[in-house]
Amino acid sequence: MTSLQTPQTPLFATQRASFESVANAARRSHSDFALSAALFFGLQGEIAFIDAAGEQLLDLGHESWTGTWVSQLEPGLTAADWAERRQSLYEGPRRFQARLARADGPTLEVEIYAALHAVGGRTFVLHLARPAPLVPQLQRELDDLQRRHELIGLAANDGLWVWDLVEGVVAYSPRWAALIGLPEARLTGSIDLWLDRVHPADRAMVDAALASHLDGDTLILNLEHRLEHRQGTWRWVQVRGLAERTADGSLSLMAASTSDITHRKNADERLCYEAFHDSLTGLANRAWLIHRLHDALSASRNQGEHFALVLVGVDGFKLINDSFGLPLGDMLLRAVAARIARSVRSIDTVARVGGDEFVVLLEGLGAPDQVAIVSDRIAREVAEPFDLRGYAVYTSVSMGIVPDSDDYNEPEELLRDANIALVRAKRMGRAKQVVFDSSMREATVKRLMLETDLRRALERAELHLAFQPIIEIATRRLLGFEALCRWNHTKRGIIGPDEFIPLAEETGLIIPIGQWVLQTACRQAQIWRTSAGLENLRVAINLSNRQFRQPDLVLSVASALAETGLPPEALELELTETIIIHDRADSLAKIAALKQMGVRLALDDFGTGYSSLEHLKLFQVDTLKIDRAFVRSAHIDREDEAIVQAIVTLAHGLGIAVTAEGIESDEQQACMTRCGCDEGQGYLFGRPLPPEDLSRRFASNVGAVESSEVWAMS
Ligand code: C2E
Ligand code: CA
Ligand code: CA
Repeated sequence: MTSLQTPQTPLFATQRASFESVANAARRSHSDFALSAALFFGLQGEIAFIDAAGEQLLDLGHESWTGTWVSQLEPGLTAADWAERRQSLYEGPRRFQARLARADGPTLEVEIYAALHAVGGRTFVLHLARPAPLVPQLQRELDDLQRRHELIGLAANDGLWVWDLVEGVVAYSPRWAALIGLPEARLTGSIDLWLDRVHPADRAMVDAALASHLDGDTLILNLEHRLEHRQGTWRWVQVRGLAERTADGSLSLMAASTSDITHRKNADERLCYEAFHDSLTGLANRAWLIHRLHDALSASRNQGEHFALVLVGVDGFKLINDSFGLPLGDMLLRAVAARIARSVRSIDTVARVGGDEFVVLLEGLGAPDQVAIVSDRIAREVAEPFDLRGYAVYTSVSMGIVPDSDDYNEPEELLRDANIALVRAKRMGRAKQVVFDSSMREATVKRLMLETDLRRALERAELHLAFQPIIEIATRRLLGFEALCRWNHTKRGIIGPDEFIPLAEETGLIIPIGQWVLQTACRQAQIWRTSAGLENLRVAINLSNRQFRQPDLVLSVASALAETGLPPEALELELTETIIIHDRADSLAKIAALKQMGVRLALDDFGTGYSSLEHLKLFQVDTLKIDRAFVRSAHIDREDEAIVQAIVTLAHGLGIAVTAEGIESDEQQACMTRCGCDEGQGYLFGRPLPPEDLSRRFASNVGAVESSEVWAMS
């Protein structure tokens, strides 16, 4: 019946003191229950209060009895039994024997003094409970042992002993002898036969527990310790014992049982191991690392000991996992773990904290450069090829290093900063190490804020396109525009693409942004083509790598053209050479599909990346854009001019037009003309401008817009 089990704890808890004083009064007037536990029940049998002695007797934690019914403590007691007991108490207090359940272990035979008491205006059933005199019973058994010892030996798995506290002699049962590796025979001797076999580390605790039980401070002796086996091994045992006093209160006998709990302890240890270890690599896990970091932090605070944290990330692990498959990825992680572990000293902690991330905690550091010695050793070890089922796999690790400092109070702060440093290291390329310094934290916070803002920029229509003219160098005739993205940030004003495009790439926001750029640029170009008399105008847009790798790239280009009506030949997509590095086959297939559609392709920033002329052919580009870096210096540096000239010659040989980027002066323009460049782009001809400005200009210069003067003037 659930109503009986409704916890009434809050009410009762406030009455704790009242319960205790009622119990104490009852104990005083019944001296044979002076050392007893007090249990209070409501009239329906719900447990109302158990005092500290009761919790000890029954092995209960503070919370475990709340809201339970008497049968929880007296197994088998029915509601009718309870009603009968309660009824009988209206006639006066009673004494009886019962068996009480313990939280852990066998039931306990007890003697109970029961009475009704009013506490705080309500009537409760009080049970004073003390262990039933077990000792005489055991003593009888032991007296009988000659005759029955085999039987007992078989029947009870536990070792037993009875201690005559007057004579100081202890009789140990055959099972007890077996626990310490002696042939199963009855042993008689002193209590030291037991105590001398207690593990030195447990001895003080055992002595203290035994003394306090004999002093009457504890109702029952209950402890766990390691017991030495004759073979020199240790068994975990649980000892439960009870001392008995004579009527005058002096000690007479004590009996105890000893159970072998080695298996349970081992299971506990295994659970404990699993809780603190990474199952894949056998290294420590995050939980254990945090624990160690707490220790390291306090050692650094109290003893001035230095430590450092190294967060190690496997470079390109995802790629390895994707191309070789999960089982091989796991093999690699295990192998990397082993190499990291052998690169550090035995006092250091190595933990796996994420898929492909490890933490090394270096403690007791003398000189600060010791960190670098270890991190370099890790880098060297991991750089050696791994043999994974016959594949020689090469990889490297990036590292974020955090030296200890007074700024740190919590392990999480150290891990956070190590992560900031690792992200930096990864951004710098492979196999890099970055030592954290606090300025990075600010940069990270700023970046995070920027990222949050960028997510909203599209919805809030904060992105704009600026259009920069591309002209024919020889005639200064306008050929088209390159669309360049701008972000009008509510607080910071205009932010350039160099700041937010890399962030958009990393976060994947480049996909919706790129889609928006494509649509907007095509629409604008088509407006100018149809309403400003610029029917041959083309527009160039930049495609980032991530955007290019989108599976539906070709489709989204096609639909942008279809929606805006822009003919494919009026759209030029600017790509960089790096796209081909990632997935050559996929890139070439996409290029072929785009060419098929009739879209123009340009190779951007030529001269800065891989600058392979082989790529020109592979890409089937229409235009090659020579990077600003060459244009800047070619007119004063003969070598640069020769390079530009060679590029132009080769490009023309392949039927590719060449655009010079970043022309700012007449000298630069003259030089590029000399080199044979076909097209030019740069401040000399025009800065990137908002479309409204350009539209206004087209409106007032109809007919003249294509003349060179218009762009030379700007
Ligand atoms: P980019 O493709 O090389 O674009 C040309 C950059 O050079 C533009 O910078 C432009 O303003 C600048 N520039 C043009 N003429 C001159 C000149 O005479 N002198 C100097 N000093 N600079 C000149 P911007 O607009 O800051 O763009 C920077 C980069 O951001 C672009 O380089 C491009 O890679 C990227 N980007 C811009 N818009 C987008 C976009 O919509 N999508 C993607 N994926 N990337 C974009
Ligand atoms: Ca470009
Ligand atoms: Ca460029």
